[in-house]
Amino acid sequence: MVVIMTDKTDYEIEIEAMADYTYKFMPENTDDPTEPILKISKSSLGTFDWCPKKYEFSYVKRLPQDQTEAMRKGTIMHNAREDFFNDFDIKKAEDMTHSEVVDYCSTLFPLDDYSDDYQTIIAFEAQRFVDARSDEKLDEFLPACNEGKFDCEIVIRADQNPDYPLSRDYVVHLQGIIDRIFKEGNGYIPMEFKTGPWKDYKATSMRKEMAFYKILIENSSDLVLKQAGLEPNIPVSHWAWYYPISNHFHCEDATSRYRVNNVNGVMKNIAKLIHAYEQKIFETKFYYKTCTHCSFFGLCDAAQDSGWL
Ligand code: SF4
Repeated sequence: MVVIMTDKTDYEIEIEAMADYTYKFMPENTDDPTEPILKISKSSLGTFDWCPKKYEFSYVKRLPQDQTEAMRKGTIMHNAREDFFNDFDIKKAEDMTHSEVVDYCSTLFPLDDYSDDYQTIIAFEAQRFVDARSDEKLDEFLPACNEGKFDCEIVIRADQNPDYPLSRDYVVHLQGIIDRIFKEGNGYIPMEFKTGPWKDYKATSMRKEMAFYKILIENSSDLVLKQAGLEPNIPVSHWAWYYPISNHFHCEDATSRYRVNNVNGVMKNIAKLIHAYEQKIFETKFYYKTCTHCSFFGLCDAAQDSGWL
């Protein structure tokens, strides 16, 4: 018997044992175990929901998108917030006054183009720390998971979405990095951090994003959860989003009938996405207000035919 020694962790072995995955998915090859299955991320599914043609340009054809100031800001502020939670020392802040906690939080953010925006986050986190201390819940102040990576495979049934029936059931690979997940009582709360302004109409898309994360967490194996800092068998009880630029924070029960509908809606959207691959048709969703900002405006027939040049 030949024994192969490996330095890989159980987590790495488990990830490698999953099927290969790709955005260049070929449904007709599904029965061939050497062919990759479909990869789905929150962003890819969101782009498909926004406009299937834009999804095809971005993810199937892998055409580059223009880098915008909003993207740059998002990357820098996400990194700053991740570092804040990695560096925050509970013991150090334990006996500080409120204003000392504010000063301490200030030292954990960088001086850059977004320093004014960090002030709102600093005030928010300092207050959260003081509240957690008076509730004797300092152990819940730091996230259980800070930018954790999740991978799982789920089955999308042929009849998952009656409006977009599939020729068969499919296994797909979901992947995502979740900004932060807090533990409160016996439940987890994924919290999405956004660096743009809040608008009430964004609640619909936020619920889709959070429902995607709920599916991702609840279908990840114990090893994947552990690697991300989570314990198995703890449900996602709530979900939340935070828009510091508008000083907007929202947290809601993730288990109500309405939120279950959000989860079902994501599963239906995935079926719709697979349907597009099966049909090899990625439709355009032209809307002049948003399409004029699309990186693929010059390549898109619907945009070219619209007269908005
Ligand atoms: S220009 Fe509009 S319709 Fe065309 S790909 Fe972009 S978002 Fe879709």
